[in-house]
Amino acid sequence: MQSNDNQLSHVSPVRGMKDLYGKDYKSYSKFLDVALQIGSLHCFSVMNTPIVEHLDVFVRSIGESSDIISKEIYEFTDKNGKRLCLRPEGTAAVMRAIVSEKLTQSMPLKLMYYGEMFRYDRPQKGRYRQFRQFGLEHLGDKSPYNDANIILIAHTIFSKLNIKDIAVNINSIGGLESRSKYILCIVDILSSKAKYLSVDSKNRLAKNPLRILDSKDKTDQEICASLPSILEYLSSDEMSYFETVQNCLEICGIDYKIDKCLVRGLDYYTDTTFEIKKDGLAICGGGRYDNLLSEFGGPNVSGVGCAFGIERVCEYISVNIADNTCVAVIPVSDDDMPYAYRVFNVLNCDCKEFIHLGNIKKKLQRANKINCRVAVIIGESERCGNNVCVKWMGSGEQKIIDIDDLNSSVC
Ligand code: AMP
Repeated sequence: MQSNDNQLSHVSPVRGMKDLYGKDYKSYSKFLDVALQIGSLHCFSVMNTPIVEHLDVFVRSIGESSDIISKEIYEFTDKNGKRLCLRPEGTAAVMRAIVSEKLTQSMPLKLMYYGEMFRYDRPQKGRYRQFRQFGLEHLGDKSPYNDANIILIAHTIFSKLNIKDIAVNINSIGGLESRSKYILCIVDILSSKAKYLSVDSKNRLAKNPLRILDSKDKTDQEICASLPSILEYLSSDEMSYFETVQNCLEICGIDYKIDKCLVRGLDYYTDTTFEIKKDGLAICGGGRYDNLLSEFGGPNVSGVGCAFGIERVCEYISVNIADNTCVAVIPVSDDDMPYAYRVFNVLNCDCKEFIHLGNIKKKLQRANKINCRVAVIIGESERCGNNVCVKWMGSGEQKIIDIDDLNSSVC
């Protein structure tokens, strides 16, 4: 084929980004329906923030040495010289919005969000550069019951979507003091094994040692498995908080495992962290954050939340692409068009299609192709008799129906 100089050379989307349509869109919208419904049922209301934020919103909260900030952030300078970015996650943006919308006096606050996130990571199965998250944030009322409740809501969303065999992993990384003691201990051990660590983890040893526990490198993981558990460094209050979270999960019948290496990739977490996995891949992650709202100048109020990776969850959502709910209105000839068009407008069903191009055979073939449940066929005798011929596509049965009875018969 000859190339046309005026044609755009980039017809495929940017690497790591996808067009969303067809079956994928159906599963995305099914996920959102269920997630928003369960969220509202637990009194969460929607707060969607802009996709573009000031870079600072994420740098301070997620941590300068985190992978998200040091490697993955899509940052740019706007025409006015402002340093902005495409948001890499939702929690920090929601905290920013709570302060900027002056909602800090309305605690406790239960907010949910959904939308596009951006991370410049190496694309692979389940990892995109533009992906979507749905998240829940519960601010105020620091209590292990609320931590367990977030896990319970996430669990409920998965069961409503009929997604089974999920693994719930939990951990506690305690507060600042316990964590500092633990970090001193692991730096000591890991420094003596530094030559075996991956290049990334060697760098993390100086900048953010806790992050080494999160490494995907096999040797790093083997080394981390022999480290003492962070749970041994928790204060008695932190430990009893974590035990209450576990008791709550047991009361709700949620199977969970403690994963002592679960520290998560964002610096703002304190105490409880958790991840829900399916087939080894995280489909939801979250935890408690004590100091995030105050980072934005808000009060010292703790929160707990989680984020679902919508694309990853959608892999497991089955949708019926050929849901035969559609009703087709088909004029036999051009003379029948105005009357058929009136019938089409009278029709009050969830899905309808006016099929008027081609001969009658072509029109019926089209109705079959889009899997119509019913075809409302209009020829000269129907037009003159103020009625319609209804054909049930599955059985082939046909009936003449008065136009006034159309909706009650086919919708
Ligand atoms: P995080 O914001 O890193 O806590 O991630 C929360 C969830 O978002 C993860 O459990 C994943 O399901 C999903 N997620 C994170 N990064 C990506 C990505 N690059 N592509 C697709 N999903 C992602």
